[in-house]
Amino acid sequence: MDKELKFDAIVLSAVDYKEYDKLLTIFSSEYGRQVVLLKGCKRPKAKLRFAGQPFFFGEFMVVKGKGYDVVTQVSPKRSFMSVTTDYDCYVDACMALKTIDISCLSQKSERLFLLLITYLVVLEQHLDLHSLITCKFYIELIKLLGFEINTDNCQECGQILQDNVYYNINHNCIICDNCKKYDSIPMRNEILKLIRILKANKFLSLLDKNLDSADIEAVKTLVLKAIERISK
Ligand SMILES: [Zn+2]
Repeated sequence: MDKELKFDAIVLSAVDYKEYDKLLTIFSSEYGRQVVLLKGCKRPKAKLRFAGQPFFFGEFMVVKGKGYDVVTQVSPKRSFMSVTTDYDCYVDACMALKTIDISCLSQKSERLFLLLITYLVVLEQHLDLHSLITCKFYIELIKLLGFEINTDNCQECGQILQDNVYYNINHNCIICDNCKKYDSIPMRNEILKLIRILKANKFLSLLDKNLDSADIEAVKTLVLKAIERISK
């Protein structure tokens, strides 16, 4: 029998498989994203039933199967189910899981895993600040994927960014007035300032800052568009 692997992972998604099983897409710092088979979890008294849903976080024991790798044991560590109690927060958190799922294909990454867990821990304690926390998550994710947004200099000419800046959707970068092109959209100064604040502060230091909610929503739209392009 193959060696059993033991590691911490979070369930990104779960789909029904055969009559009583589920296929889970899980994400761990050791093995990145992987699909594993959770057998019998749909039986009414199944012990592993609780592990068959998104947001479940625990220690998995997995053994190589003929097709899919098979989960043999799970110990819960933490469930982030409380993020599902607020609808808007739930939508943000689901999107975050989905983004990790599509952008981190078979990538092993301790930092991505840590980012996702940190995001969910902070989120479940501050459901009302879900948009702000979600913006920070995407700013960090974009950076970890190698596309950090430069908020100091124009991406084209290198000039220091001051007033009249533009966002280039196709290249996910900020440029100056001289370098704007047909696909550049004007960016309000408040938005540039907010992105700088998001980049400079850790999750927890952002929470007590009095930030404008309309600006936060505008940045959220921008980072979601950016990540959509990056993940394609
Ligand atoms: Zn420029």
